[in-house]
Amino acid sequence: MEREQLEFDVLFVGAGPANLAGAIHLKQLARQQGREVEVCIIEKAAAVGGHSLSGAVLDPRALGELMPDFRETGCPIEESDLRDGVFYLTPTGQIRLPYTPPYLHNEGCFVISLSKFCAWLGAAAEELGVNLFPGFAGVEALTDEAGRVIGVRTGDKGVNRDGKPKSNAEPGVDLLAKVTVFGEGPKGSLLRELGRTLGIFEGRQPQVFETAIKEVIEIPAGSPFASSPYTVLHTFGYPLGLDTKGGGFLYRMRDNRVSLGLVVGLDYEDPMLEPYQTFLQFKKHPLIADVIRGGKVLQQGAKTLAAGGYYTMPRLAVDGAVFVGDSASMLNVQRLKGIHTAMKSGMLAAETALAALAAGDASARLLQSYADRVDASWIKTELHPARNFGQALSRKGISKFILIGAQMVSGGRGLVDPMPTVDDATTLKPGRFEEAPPVQALDGQLYLDKLTGVYLSGTAHEEDQPCHLLIPDRELCVTRCWDTLRSPCTRFCPGQVYEMEPVDGGRPRLKLNPSNCLHCKTCEIKDPFHNILWTCPEGGGGPNYTVV
Ligand SMILES: Cc1cc2nc3c(=O)[nH]c(=O)nc-3n(C[C@H](O)[C@H](O)[C@H](O)COP(=O)(O)OP(=O)(O)OC[C@H]3O[C@@H](n4cnc5c(N)ncnc54)[C@H](O)[C@@H]3O)c2cc1C
Repeated sequence: MEREQLEFDVLFVGAGPANLAGAIHLKQLARQQGREVEVCIIEKAAAVGGHSLSGAVLDPRALGELMPDFRETGCPIEESDLRDGVFYLTPTGQIRLPYTPPYLHNEGCFVISLSKFCAWLGAAAEELGVNLFPGFAGVEALTDEAGRVIGVRTGDKGVNRDGKPKSNAEPGVDLLAKVTVFGEGPKGSLLRELGRTLGIFEGRQPQVFETAIKEVIEIPAGSPFASSPYTVLHTFGYPLGLDTKGGGFLYRMRDNRVSLGLVVGLDYEDPMLEPYQTFLQFKKHPLIADVIRGGKVLQQGAKTLAAGGYYTMPRLAVDGAVFVGDSASMLNVQRLKGIHTAMKSGMLAAETALAALAAGDASARLLQSYADRVDASWIKTELHPARNFGQALSRKGISKFILIGAQMVSGGRGLVDPMPTVDDATTLKPGRFEEAPPVQALDGQLYLDKLTGVYLSGTAHEEDQPCHLLIPDRELCVTRCWDTLRSPCTRFCPGQVYEMEPVDGGRPRLKLNPSNCLHCKTCEIKDPFHNILWTCPEGGGGPNYTVV
């Protein structure tokens, strides 16, 4: 197919908070300096914000630097009166911690809907003249003969499941740029390829992740939560226990709605664990059930977050490109916050890109100043003291609290620095599948099955397209993986993409439902045999989040 080429000064891949802030800042700076800069952002969702899902308590530090008048200019804030309560849950009760650790304090922060927030940032970027292309997935990083990144190819559209062009076929476009900023969020598919070709993860600890299932629920006007002393609840303990990393959150939103989610560390060991069922268990705990009783789920979704922290950050610059936000492990897992650090990294990338354009030099040597800017900024001041936190949380039982205590009194150093990080794909323990996992009762309104959840995420894909989940060895799925782990993909995927169909007198058959995919990428991260590769489906497919 003939491909069109479009040239820009700076190309941002992914319209999350990192790149939206970056593009806005770039245009602002260029305007202040009286310079013309051609900026483009591509986003695989059909609309900006469509794939954005987060808690989300926003620390407004970066936003205040980007747009000091954000309140007056209509930033969509859901709740600004944040009062935190931290609870340890037992199966039937709860103990409120008398002390809220400083990193969980949210005074001065705001509850937002990340999808609404990104849509708002997207509109601001367009007003400044950024070329914003939702519905376009970057499927290949383009490099020249010398291996320098020179842009990104977007995916072909209108190709059938056998790879043949349909009547509406549209070839992807080669978007060329002097500087490309990759902000694909957790487990970027282009970043994976750049890791292979340019070695950006070499010498680093492996990136690790947590998967979260989240809902926005409309609760009755008279819910006891309206008179609760807390507007933000953090929980740990039940249903995950102390041996599995993770916890729950519940945030008050406007118009009698709450944001409810459970985060599960993907270094769990039990192949029968099903994050979705665990989320339902969490919803049925009395502390949560009392708040949401009589309510109705408005939207559901799932996404991963990059939880490894400082020591898992890749090399931040190569010839022609830099890496920002969750893609580059910049989330502060201690605070479960990455929007503000992602935004700040995008802004620092913008400053670096402008300097590169002025110097006519986008070499790794010049772009390395982006890494220096990150190091000199409050991103490092925040991430460095939390550098071993996620790794301590991964420890079993109460030993994690001893390690965290030691970190708190030693500026993050703790008893071992750096603490080792274990690849999530390696932690499942074979043979632990005799016990049937608990299945929660459903009511179709407040307690939903996976498929209703997928429906409420607005997920849709063009059905007749090549499968975007690449499974090189299907035989392995029904032999080794089934025999030793009972196909954990059927449980860790929150969208019921993977099913094992029984076959009379034989081994089960793998059935894929790629149209259900929520783009969380848990499958690629947790697959114990590295036998699933997540690639971008046709641009515009996937969830359509609007309030989560
Ligand atoms: C359940 C949950 C709760 C959280 N709670 C909080 C919280 O309370 N506070 C907080 O600050 N942070 C929170 N976070 C983390 C926060 O959401 C992230 O740190 C932040 O969104 C990272 O921003 P980003 O721009 O780097 O990536 P993302 O927000 O992931 O954005 C990346 C964008 O790139 C697009 N994209 C990816 N690949 C491609 C491609 N190849 N081509 C085109 N487009 C592509 C994606 O569709 C997406 O829109 C939470 C995260 C989760 C999942």
